[in-house]
Amino acid sequence: MLIKVQKFGGSSVGNPERMRRVARRIAEAADAGNQVAVVVSAMGDTTDDLIALSRELNPQPERREMDMLLSTGEQQSIALLAMTLQNMGYKAISLTGRQAGFRTDGSYSSAKILSVDCQRVRDELEAGKIAIVAGFQGVDHCGEINTLGRGGSDTSAVALAIGLEADVCEIFTDVDGVYTADPRIVKKAWKIPEISYDEMLEMAAMGALVLQPRSVELAKQYGVVLHVRSSFNHNEGTIVKEEVSMDKDMEKELIVCGVAHDMNVLKVSLFGIPNRHGMAGDIFEQLARVGVNVDMIVQSGSRDMRHDISFTCGRDERVKVETAVQNLMLTVPMEYYTIVDTLAKISIVGAGMITHPGVAAKMFRVFSENKINISMISTSEIKISCIVDEREVTKALMCLHTAFGLDAEEN
Ligand code: ADP
Ligand code: ASP
Ligand code: MG
Repeated sequence: MLIKVQKFGGSSVGNPERMRRVARRIAEAADAGNQVAVVVSAMGDTTDDLIALSRELNPQPERREMDMLLSTGEQQSIALLAMTLQNMGYKAISLTGRQAGFRTDGSYSSAKILSVDCQRVRDELEAGKIAIVAGFQGVDHCGEINTLGRGGSDTSAVALAIGLEADVCEIFTDVDGVYTADPRIVKKAWKIPEISYDEMLEMAAMGALVLQPRSVELAKQYGVVLHVRSSFNHNEGTIVKEEVSMDKDMEKELIVCGVAHDMNVLKVSLFGIPNRHGMAGDIFEQLARVGVNVDMIVQSGSRDMRHDISFTCGRDERVKVETAVQNLMLTVPMEYYTIVDTLAKISIVGAGMITHPGVAAKMFRVFSENKINISMISTSEIKISCIVDEREVTKALMCLHTAFGLDAEEN
């Protein structure tokens, strides 16, 4: 008997009809003789709606209370899904993160899973039940509820698969798999049959929402093969694993495997900072102190013994950034600062760029030909990212997709 972990995202369980469809999918797996443990997200836009509601009552709610609130979204969907299955004649039981043994590290809103004690889930499976586990949540050593960051149910599913030593980990979502770009924006994007953990991790970290980056990291660490597929049909999805088979890879001979975008970009520039040692340390220590997660950093060359530093972070960190910059101005004699929240990050990802020179040049050329201005650049071994105006996102994705030979009709 195989153990299957199946994860269903919010859009897959967004209304009663979809909930029933998901239940049928789970029932199929159970009927085929598998032990099935399910991880489910909050229904539809529940998490966003709860965030909006909280903001109406307090623009800066305590993170503890936010986690208390947001974890209720998943608690609704596990109970509803269990009821649906029971109504179809299946034995099912819903379990919160705590009941399913998810122990987290205590950091509200972005907790890491420290361990999963799967005994309860195992017992339920042994008793012939389908276990329906709340994604996105766990409890710390004091019993405090922690959530795992947006999209965290993917990570819950991978952690459960590791804990149960599951044979299969399927991530069901509202698209057929991982595409060469967001298929909702780039109509010529095609589904990637197999993708390596490293490329998937970069795609996810650069904004491809389909998997939470942490889930890919965890899957890589424990060698869990992920199958990303649609909850609306039975099409083959995308397999995420260490080694991508040569034939599938060579068919495409692609240097770049995908293009990703991230709208959650805030660019902060500090102008006229004294050009002496210790300044960068002071600035980034202050940002770390208030918990700002800094992404790209660019320091300009110096003029008149002064220079400028720009960095990016998430738009939701604006209040923290402002606090940090106000504090900094008391100690670092900078001239002025600006904060821009109308930018986005466009990235190209592909292991092929390690061995092929000129990829960055081509990306910049494509932007230039399409009159897209680049305001920041950063690179890693297998990705190049540029910050551009948010209004250019669709054009940027489409022209890069074409330029790097990713358009479906060409393959
Ligand atoms: P779920 O609710 O199932 O967790 P998400 O909304 O978190 O689903 O992720 C699925 C969405 O990710 C898709 O609807 C799609 O618009 C978006 N997406 C962005 N980039 C990609 C990509 N490269 N491949 C597939 N989907 C992508
Ligand atoms: N409901 C949470 C969110 O919207 C977790 C998830 O969907 O994975 O981010
Ligand atoms: Mg998701």
